[in-house]
Amino acid sequence: MSASSDKPPLTVRLAAPRGFCAGVDRAIQIVERAIARYGAPVYVRHEIVHNRHVVDRLRALGAVFVEELDECPADRPVVFSAHGVPKSVPAEAQARRMLYLDATCPLVSKVHVEAQRHFEAGKEIVLIGHAGHPEVIGTMGQLPEGAVTLIETVDDAARFQPRDPANVAFATQTTLSVDDTADIVGVLKARFPEIAAPHKEDICYATTNRQEAVKVVAEGSDLLLVIGSANSSNSVRLAEVGRRAGCPAHLIDDASALDFAWLEGARQVGVTAGASAPEDLVQALLARLGERYAVTVETVESARETVSFKLPRGLSEPA
Ligand code: SF4
Repeated sequence: MSASSDKPPLTVRLAAPRGFCAGVDRAIQIVERAIARYGAPVYVRHEIVHNRHVVDRLRALGAVFVEELDECPADRPVVFSAHGVPKSVPAEAQARRMLYLDATCPLVSKVHVEAQRHFEAGKEIVLIGHAGHPEVIGTMGQLPEGAVTLIETVDDAARFQPRDPANVAFATQTTLSVDDTADIVGVLKARFPEIAAPHKEDICYATTNRQEAVKVVAEGSDLLLVIGSANSSNSVRLAEVGRRAGCPAHLIDDASALDFAWLEGARQVGVTAGASAPEDLVQALLARLGERYAVTVETVESARETVSFKLPRGLSEPA
């Protein structure tokens, strides 16, 4: 990054990994390829991923975002978002003979399958997650009403009264705080030692890696800037993790939301991006910082990611 000598120095500690995960990348490609294959408009039920810039760009290409299926005409394709949908949604699409494409992240689908398996084994299921988040609505909607109890906090876990304490299982939302969830799971395991746990963590690799990276970057930084939208669960968690590590943190949609007053006295600034935030927004933030500071960028890498997911059949080749 260019520096002029009259600008104060600023070191940017850039977290790696950051930004797009494999599930977000796949979901965006599904919408892009559906538009290329079927023409506009292609309907998308709920924001495909929780990022305003991604949604605006896809809208400009011909995507129409709606909240419910009944807002879509039956003769246009519809894509279900990366967060997953209750079973009633594909059932309704089938009943209306709609062409639908499911962009549910495979790691969310894995949680759906686990919940189903526990239900079939007769277990009472606890889902750790945030009320109202579309992923939670989708996971709870895999099973009949009342089959899943939502737990949001350690207090909820302490109060939960199962029908049979020896026959309980838990699953989690994929984008939770790793540390908070460990506390909640700790309470459940202490109360119900036989509780069935996921085979492998439900909190996904991308959430885990981004939170780990933020901890490393926050240490020694005077300020943390997280690029992401306010409705993005994993982005909100990144700012929280930074604050818990003792670093003041701001979640911003893009560089235009940066307030230079936050940087008063700062020498080292951590920068990261949520799993739904595109890298060009990070680069634009670095450029904006460069307008006032002589910026040196240090990439702080705490993990390497090689995960990628296949596209659904029929979309794996560009139109
Ligand atoms: Fe999938 Fe995790 Fe990305 Fe969500 S954050 S889309 S669960 S990889």
